[in-house]
Amino acid sequence: MTSAPTTAVQSISSGVTDFLSRPVQHLIGGASVASASGESFATFNPCDSNELTQVAMGETEDIDRAVRAARQALGGPWAKMSPSDRSKILWRVGDLIEQRSEEFAVLEALDSGKPLTYARLVDIPLSADWFRYMAGWPTKLEGTTIPVSAVATPGNYFAYTVREPVGVVGAVIAWNFPLLLAAWKLSPALATGNTVVLKPAEQTPLTAALLGEVLRDAGVPDGVVNIVHGYGHTAGAALAAHPGVDKISFTGSTEVGREIISAARGNLKKVTLELGGKSPNVIFDDADIDAAIAGAANAIFFNQGEACEAGSRLYVQSKVYDRVVEGVAEIASELNVGNSLDPDTQIGPMVSKKQLDTVLGYLESGRVDGARAVVGGRQKGEAGYFVEPTVLVDTTPEMKVVREEIFGPVVTVASFDDPDDIVRMANDTDYGLAAGVWTSDVSKAHNIAAQFRAGTVWINSYHILDPALPFGGYKQSGWGREHGAAVLDAYTETKTVILNKG
Ligand code: NAP
Ligand code: MG
Repeated sequence: MTSAPTTAVQSISSGVTDFLSRPVQHLIGGASVASASGESFATFNPCDSNELTQVAMGETEDIDRAVRAARQALGGPWAKMSPSDRSKILWRVGDLIEQRSEEFAVLEALDSGKPLTYARLVDIPLSADWFRYMAGWPTKLEGTTIPVSAVATPGNYFAYTVREPVGVVGAVIAWNFPLLLAAWKLSPALATGNTVVLKPAEQTPLTAALLGEVLRDAGVPDGVVNIVHGYGHTAGAALAAHPGVDKISFTGSTEVGREIISAARGNLKKVTLELGGKSPNVIFDDADIDAAIAGAANAIFFNQGEACEAGSRLYVQSKVYDRVVEGVAEIASELNVGNSLDPDTQIGPMVSKKQLDTVLGYLESGRVDGARAVVGGRQKGEAGYFVEPTVLVDTTPEMKVVREEIFGPVVTVASFDDPDDIVRMANDTDYGLAAGVWTSDVSKAHNIAAQFRAGTVWINSYHILDPALPFGGYKQSGWGREHGAAVLDAYTETKTVILNKG
């Protein structure tokens, strides 16, 4: 039995209470400032819909001030600093995140509804690790020397390349991993010498604001990172369209990704996009079935299913179908759904009323289309935005619940027989962010991995993310790659220099 949503049991430290007692301001040019308009908006705790604090509401004028601060900082101490000194500062950011990890974790849990236990285990340590990994790059941004033939203009040439920062980066992020997504943008942008204007998601501004304090304390010079809070259709749109921004790095829905592309047209700013997914997770009958069942449940229910790479379409070979459905449903029914601050909570609420309504809308659409909930299928409790972990069977490929990203704790399950069929079924989607495969046959695993049209394939595992591993989408899941050495291309321009040696 799933337990009913519980009340908070973790007492909140004075650091967090203090933080919440003041309105959250923008960070522009090193100063904590209110909006030009003086307006603010509330951020809420999705466990009980209570207001946590007020947040400065940035609009065009605030974005403009932040972009000017970032542009000015481009030629300042950050650019003149040695790569080794930039590395030290980025490493220190990781240390300070770790030192203040409890404040970060509690604020993240309060603001987004994710279980505190997972914020402590996943979001905060990974964010620190991202800064530390990227801290290694400033001293390794090498160019190449290139032999030149120049057949039309023969001569004695010496040619080399250098990597330079793209310039001012506008970063717009989603609410599902607020601090981690900020780290995914800021750490590579800073490691490659850019300056940044970050627009956090309106639902979850708190940890980005605390990160602003950490960046200052670590020694990031004023204006190098600017943070403007506000709504997507105003602040986000102004940033994406701003002629003083050289590149937009966006994480969010495919729908808004298209708007970012249109807005970026004016000055043809560079664009990278980390978008939605509807990732297949495939279990063959020769897999370690217990591990596959636990893995399939984790693939969808981690972070309440609010994960872009969630394994939301489960395909199971016929012979083990019943056993897997039963196993995943049993785990779903035993997950503790409750207040994010309760250390026993495994599933928190949806981030907002809007997201709750979206998920409930999909559950209704599944019902109407003939899908059956083996477990779950409804809202849970009356306060807050909780949804029962749900396993849907009797699905067909054209159903909306199978085709569209639900972004909640809802998995659809279908069976297959022939390995050739499963590749076609798995790839039958507009998305291509990730995929999973469970089998003990190594050749089969690599064969299937080769045929998936997805940016990441997990074999006998799921949700393994690491700063060293490239991540991004095929098809409508995005443009470009984040993390690892691959991300450096997204944040640098390559300059080719040719010398006529005479
Ligand atoms: P979203 O609605 O696209 O919002 C993402 C960000 O864009 C928010 O900061 C939002 O601001 C802003 N925004 C909205 N409209 C805008 C506009 N016209 N111009 C500029 N910015 C605008 O996505 P979401 O609902 O927050 O996040 C869920 C989505 O993100 C899912 O599709 C998920 O798969 C995807 N995601 C992808 C990855 C990845 O790495 N591939 C990671 C996490 C999430 P407001 O919040 O203020 O409206
Ligand atoms: Mg909130």
